[in-house]
Amino acid sequence: MKTLDISSLQRTSIHVREHILRMSTNGGAFTGASLSCADLLVYLYKSFLRVDPASVGNDARDLLLLSKGHDVPALYGVFAELGFIDPDRLANHLSTRDSIYWHPNREIPGVEFHSGSLGHLLSVGIGMAIDARMRKLASRVVVVVGDGELNEGSIWEACLTAAAHKVDNLIVVVDRNGFQANMRTEELIPLEPIADKFRAFGWLVHEADGHDYDDLHQTFSSLLLGCGKPNVVIAMTQRGKGVPSIAERADRWFCDFSLREVVELVDELNGRSTAELSSDTLVVR
Ligand SMILES: [Mg+2]
Repeated sequence: MKTLDISSLQRTSIHVREHILRMSTNGGAFTGASLSCADLLVYLYKSFLRVDPASVGNDARDLLLLSKGHDVPALYGVFAELGFIDPDRLANHLSTRDSIYWHPNREIPGVEFHSGSLGHLLSVGIGMAIDARMRKLASRVVVVVGDGELNEGSIWEACLTAAAHKVDNLIVVVDRNGFQANMRTEELIPLEPIADKFRAFGWLVHEADGHDYDDLHQTFSSLLLGCGKPNVVIAMTQRGKGVPSIAERADRWFCDFSLREVVELVDELNGRSTAELSSDTLVVR
């Protein structure tokens, strides 16, 4: 387990959120959901996962699969901040001059598997986790899924399989932001009680505040890996977290902002002014 430096995590999360906003233009992005999982990804890459730009491709690294692939601006924002990719590449989002687009792409260093169609990467993660176990590697596999993604039948087939094969180096993280596309999950196809459903499938269930680094650290420190059961962390999050004018809004699941709107939203980000943000280490394009 890496050390926890909350102020460093918070600084990174602000930078990642600015990247997400800046990628939500020139064609757009799934901004609200990217903002909901930003803190999760910052925590996982900076304080939990044993992977960094130098260990990409090494056998014994930990692996993260972003099954909710439409939230890729958050993943690429983290990769830019941690040195996996050149931050300047983010400006190419959706451009034909680069391979950064819409969903995770294995051409980008750090991306372990493509994702796009929902409900598939849990099965892929099970395979990777079993492969690591068969090769006696210490790798842990983390699969981040959306709460709306739990409506996919393939998720629950995979949950049965993971429990049956005692895949205990596997961790699923549910980004429980309460929305699926432009509706609240409980209005569309109710999911609760999610924790009880995972328990019924034979999983160890943990719950955390997905924006509270202390809580996330306590939760991930208490995972029972190697105990014969897969682990799931249900992370309570807020869609649009950090940008109040788009938070919790069903109509802000996909955004294509003008450059002027992006500047205004960056102003709003965590209540700081654009000048304050820009004077630190942020690059304003
Ligand atoms: Mg959701």
